[in-house]
Amino acid sequence: MQSPSGKPLPRRAANDIPPGQPRPHATYWLLAMVAAMALATAATLWWTLRQTHVLAQPHQQNDLWYVSSVHNELARVSLLARKVRAREASTQDLQERLEVLLGTLDTSGRGPRVSTQLREALPEAAQDLDSLRPLVERWSTQLAPLATQNGNGNGKAAAITADIVRQSDTLLDRLRKVVATVHLFSAQEASQARQQLSQRFLLLSAVLGGLLLGTALLIAKLVRDTRLVRAASQQLVQANRQLEVRVASRTRKIEEGRALLSFILDTSPSDVVLAEVESGRVHFINRRLTERLGLKAAPETLFLPELLHDPETRERFTQALDRYGQVDAMEALIGEHDPCWSSLSARLIEVEGQLAHLLWGFDISAHKALEGQLRELATRDALSGLLNRRAFLERSTALFDHCRRHGQPCAVLMIDIDHFKRINDRHGHQMGDVAIRTCAEAIGHALRDADLLGRLGGEEFAVLLPHATADSAMVVAERIRSGMAQMNIVSPQGQPLSFTISIGVAEMAAHHAGIEPLLVDADQALYRAKATGRNKVLAYEVAIGQS
Ligand code: GH3
Ligand code: MG
Ligand code: MG
Repeated sequence: MQSPSGKPLPRRAANDIPPGQPRPHATYWLLAMVAAMALATAATLWWTLRQTHVLAQPHQQNDLWYVSSVHNELARVSLLARKVRAREASTQDLQERLEVLLGTLDTSGRGPRVSTQLREALPEAAQDLDSLRPLVERWSTQLAPLATQNGNGNGKAAAITADIVRQSDTLLDRLRKVVATVHLFSAQEASQARQQLSQRFLLLSAVLGGLLLGTALLIAKLVRDTRLVRAASQQLVQANRQLEVRVASRTRKIEEGRALLSFILDTSPSDVVLAEVESGRVHFINRRLTERLGLKAAPETLFLPELLHDPETRERFTQALDRYGQVDAMEALIGEHDPCWSSLSARLIEVEGQLAHLLWGFDISAHKALEGQLRELATRDALSGLLNRRAFLERSTALFDHCRRHGQPCAVLMIDIDHFKRINDRHGHQMGDVAIRTCAEAIGHALRDADLLGRLGGEEFAVLLPHATADSAMVVAERIRSGMAQMNIVSPQGQPLSFTISIGVAEMAAHHAGIEPLLVDADQALYRAKATGRNKVLAYEVAIGQS
């Protein structure tokens, strides 16, 4: 694609974002990072809490507590055994103390009381503790029956207490060492756990720091994006306002242009109309044409061909528009009531998706009237006002053909003023003209409207009488001749003047191919009339018979 100046437009990728616009991808990345950091924080926190929880549990000091408890209980058992031997305590008390010691040693199905770590780190101490239970159970079992006899088993009790004192002393020594060892072991364990906890807190702090940093970046990004969006929306509002102003200005210009165009078309000397072909909807019609159609306001619909008065011209106009899409300078009568001549040019165009006719018409009424006058002048003889030779021959030919087509008779008269040369010679050429005009008028008065009269030249006239036979033509000719013979005209010098005419008559016959042979026949009859004395009417047949 090229810009209007012809230079190639700068390429921009589909995902290119203009500078200063928010970048959603960066936001998504930051969101993903924050989410990942939050997950990592949660995992690290859970891990650290778990460690803290483990450290916070009382049984973390379980081994030391257990060993100390066992040691203390065994020490009490040993002391009570000594008291029993010294008869300061009963066997039952010792039995109860042994039960307490057994309770301390009791695992209650929860596995060995000594932890796996301790068992692995100090296997001997664990073994001592493990071996204590069967021993205490044995002491308890042995003492149980004696405790209920109230002094009956003193010997046996003494032996058991002696065994307890002896073995417990040894065991207490060893348990003291175990306590010290376990204490040391526990201290090391606690130290390691603290270090681990410290590392986990460091890790947690780092992850939290990352989370905070990511969150801060995200917030900064969101704030920046918000500002950019606000700025962009303000720019958009601004651009919208500018666009509205431009659209309003453009609309105003278009309206002004339209008004100017309407004014030009309304005041133009031509008729203009634009109307749809199918519906006849009028898009535009100028005032001149509206008035020419005798309408007070522009019509809603108008079918252009209907403007044309003459059906044959209308057909030609429609065919030319349909076939070629245009008509140029076609002369036609437009309007129904008072049709006037117009030179029409039209185009078949598309308006709003519909075919429409655009028509210009130029009033050529004056031109047509002038043309008619000129045509009339071209057909008339200036002196007499009658048809000249050419026009008479044209029209008489048409009449002759018409009569022949319809089997009707027709006849012609050839009329010539007698001795006309003498009139000219005696009274002047002007008087000769008066005689010609007088003769023309007199002949015209003697004829019907349907008859055709022409001046063929000089003082010679011809008449075509449609539907007339030779006989009826003879009657008309005689009437003309006698009328002329009785007529007097006055010369400019005041002298009266009369003249006669001779007339040759011929009727249309089968051998006449056209008007001219018929005129020749009538001329022959005229010639014969002249030759035989003038001031007479002679039929062709008679003339032929005489010659
Ligand atoms: P005829 O009886 O045999 O017809 O004799 P004529 O004298 O009438 O016939 P001719 O043909 O010898 O003379 C006709 C004359 O008519 C000759 C010519 O000068 C005259 N003429 C022809 N046209 C006009 C015209 O328009 N005005 C006048 N005043 N004279 C004309
Ligand atoms: Mg003559
Ligand atoms: Mg003549």
